[in-house]
Amino acid sequence: MNARSPKDAPKNATRRGVVGALGASLLAGSATKAMAQPSMGFAPPPSGLGGRPFPNLLRPLANGPRKFGYAVVGLGKYAINQILPAFAECQHARLTALVSGDATKARRIGKQYGISESNLYSYSDFDKIAQNPDVDAVYIILPNALHADFAVRAFRAGKHVMCEKPMATSVEDCQRMIDAGKRANKELMIGYRCHFDPITNKAISLARSGAIGKPQIITTDNNDLGADTTDPTTHWRLTRALSGGGSLMDLGIYGVNGSRYMMNDDPIEVRAMIAPNSSPVFSQVEDIITWQFRYRSGGIAHGSSSFTTYSTTRFCLQGDKGTLLMDPATSYWSNRVSLCKSGDIETWSTPMFTIDALNQFSAQLDHLPISIAKGTRVLATGEEGMQDVRLLQSIYKAAHTGRAVATDWSDWRKTI
Ligand code: NAD
Repeated sequence: MNARSPKDAPKNATRRGVVGALGASLLAGSATKAMAQPSMGFAPPPSGLGGRPFPNLLRPLANGPRKFGYAVVGLGKYAINQILPAFAECQHARLTALVSGDATKARRIGKQYGISESNLYSYSDFDKIAQNPDVDAVYIILPNALHADFAVRAFRAGKHVMCEKPMATSVEDCQRMIDAGKRANKELMIGYRCHFDPITNKAISLARSGAIGKPQIITTDNNDLGADTTDPTTHWRLTRALSGGGSLMDLGIYGVNGSRYMMNDDPIEVRAMIAPNSSPVFSQVEDIITWQFRYRSGGIAHGSSSFTTYSTTRFCLQGDKGTLLMDPATSYWSNRVSLCKSGDIETWSTPMFTIDALNQFSAQLDHLPISIAKGTRVLATGEEGMQDVRLLQSIYKAAHTGRAVATDWSDWRKTI
């Protein structure tokens, strides 16, 4: 998408990366009272808190000389600009194969990353990957509606699967992916990269440690000014059959997932509203959408997303003793969290790549082999991805019916 880019943004800055660059320049002029530099030694989560898993950024595993091989499926913007370069900083993962519908592009990128021609696949001969011992996992970075079929094919080929968000465009497809993984006895992980961002972890840690008292209100806005018609990669995002929906599927999902993590709970009721379409570009999917979640604790979340308002990614979490503000919240780098309490503001920020080998993309890529080697479940499981898809579907249902949707699926966790 053609997000507006500041002149000094790196060449490959796209989408939330641009917001990150803007955030960095804002940060340079910020007047916060104290600036703490984060390190790898963030406090562990307080014990005794049940609920959602807490991301662990530390990577203690010595994995031997052979690194875990990924085949990346889909060579679009996110794959080329963010994921492929991140392999250089992985400790346990390496890029071993590419799958693309464009043989020339695959050859060109393969050359760049030292991938032999025999490890280049098309979408139609993808299943031959079963015979390739260099490939341990398949990373699916395709339009949303194609995730499920490729995941099922990858499991059938005996590979683990990393799949981009949103996991799929229907709950049925999510279940199909989970079942295929179980049948193959292989791991399924969803590409929630923010779980590997130190600032996100700091924010979750603060929210769960009582730093702001009881979290009661979350507001979160995730917008990307970029849905024009001149960029061909935008087309699938505006085509319901491929995207499953508009800004909510693409951007609002960050607010949905993030608010569940901040609240450490799942919502029990959903309300939502879609603004009238501002342009014929949005004839199939929504542009501006807002939603509310009510939690069992009494807490409330309010989220918005859009393709036509100024690029923003922000969380504000208010408790009875303080406020946490993340702005930018889900950028590719330069995220920032501030704790506002008794008139004081403390801010943590980390430009990407300042923590060795711990940029969110390579940490995410390394997490799958680490979990497999340790025999532990990945942080962002298929069940987590499916829970978000169920909530996205509930938001659409609430918006289309104008009614509150009950989402108390408190027993879903028992099925994990
Ligand atoms: P993109 O349009 O840049 O790339 C999509 C790729 O899929 C292209 O290489 C395209 O050729 C290929 N493709 C295969 N079949 C296609 C079809 N039928 N129609 C259209 N394209 C087809 O998109 P992207 O921004 O790279 O997004 C891909 C996936 O990654 C999406 O699921 C998106 O939500 C996800 N994503 C995640 C993040 C993140 O921060 N985690 C960021 C961007 C995108």
